[in-house]
Amino acid sequence: MNELNFNHLKGKTCVITGGGGVLGASMAEALAQAGMQLAIVDINQDAATSLANRIASEYNVKTLGISANVLDKKSLEEARNQISQELGPIDFLINGAGGNSPKATTKAEEILPDMDGLWENSFYGLEMEGFRQVFDLNFIGTLLPTMVFTRDMIDAGKGGVINISSMNAFKPLTKIPAYSAAKSAINNFTQWLAVHLGKTGIRVNAIAPGFFLTNQNRFLLTDESTGELTPRGHKIIASTPMGKFGDSGDINGTLLFLLSDLSEFITGVVVPVDGGYSAYGGV
Ligand code: NAD
Repeated sequence: MNELNFNHLKGKTCVITGGGGVLGASMAEALAQAGMQLAIVDINQDAATSLANRIASEYNVKTLGISANVLDKKSLEEARNQISQELGPIDFLINGAGGNSPKATTKAEEILPDMDGLWENSFYGLEMEGFRQVFDLNFIGTLLPTMVFTRDMIDAGKGGVINISSMNAFKPLTKIPAYSAAKSAINNFTQWLAVHLGKTGIRVNAIAPGFFLTNQNRFLLTDESTGELTPRGHKIIASTPMGKFGDSGDINGTLLFLLSDLSEFITGVVVPVDGGYSAYGGV
């Protein structure tokens, strides 16, 4: 039986895409506490660098902040070269870059009879550019980093990938069809890749967070001018049996478990961390 601790993660190297964001930063901090070396990869260079500097000095672990775009394979390969040179082979990957955008969000939840602004406020008014941007960021932005950052794991015969899914992968949320479709595709891909890599020693799992108030959903859940919850924000709290948004640290126990040998025989699963949201039928 494995030892019941995370000591074996110490000194391992993990890449976190979207590592400069709210959940990414929290995951990075948890992994640093476990003694892991980190490459924080984010399109926002300042966010990646300042977090890497803080973590390196606070936890005394080697940490790189690297600017790369998860939709650009060449920039990911450049990041990989830098990581190889400065940290050595990559042991783990967390695909955290993602999010929604107002450009892929309908104004209306559903079409009602005689609705004002039928064409512009509903599904029919969605611009393909915004739809594609959100779908690609979440899905292709998981696929490409996985191609680039798991090569060392194949050589080592061991490794782990954690994809970040969402509640909307199980049941689509109103207004956000591109984001929902992309996260659903991530669940499917998690299972597909777990099978494809089943005999390589690389495990592929996903975490589906419930609702955490962060930059990518603030515009939907809170009123910009007052900071109060929007009707949608209230609905979410009412649909979450634990009655609150998640705290950014709430996914870290599940993350460490899924990366570690404690979950050695687990691959191809999507674990909800959602305060009970996915269990609640609404009545
Ligand atoms: P966030 O906006 O704080 O972080 C997202 C990070 O991704 C940002 O630092 C951003 O710069 C980076 N990023 C965006 N585009 C990129 C690109 N092309 N290349 C590289 N980096 C890029 O959001 P968050 O809430 O911390 O989200 C992290 C992950 O969790 C996302 O995949 C999101 O979909 C998922 N998620 C969040 C929630 C929630 O309630 N906040 C719920 C479910 C899933």
